[in-house]
Amino acid sequence: MIAVLAHDLQHVREVLDPGIPLDGSAMDSLFNRIGSRLRGTEMAEQYETAAAQKVTTLVTRELEGNNEKAPEKRREDKDRGRLAS
Ligand SMILES: [Zn+2]
Repeated sequence: MIAVLAHDLQHVREVLDPGIPLDGSAMDSLFNRIGSRLRGTEMAEQYETAAAQKVTTLVTRELEGNNEKAPEKRREDKDRGRLAS
């Protein structure tokens, strides 16, 4: 559930960061540029992005206790003096 939330928050960031109008046409154009279109029903997501998939993978690994963190996360941990290994 947390990985799904992180994935969807990445999509929110993808929409807000470019500062585009929040309408269907602008978002279709945005996701055509940054993502790939998926097949599905009207209730399903129509686009996917590599960035959102990466967030899902990273969060899932962290939740599973995998110590293989993203480089930026290791740097943040080191800056806080919490690097375990
Ligand atoms: Zn997605």
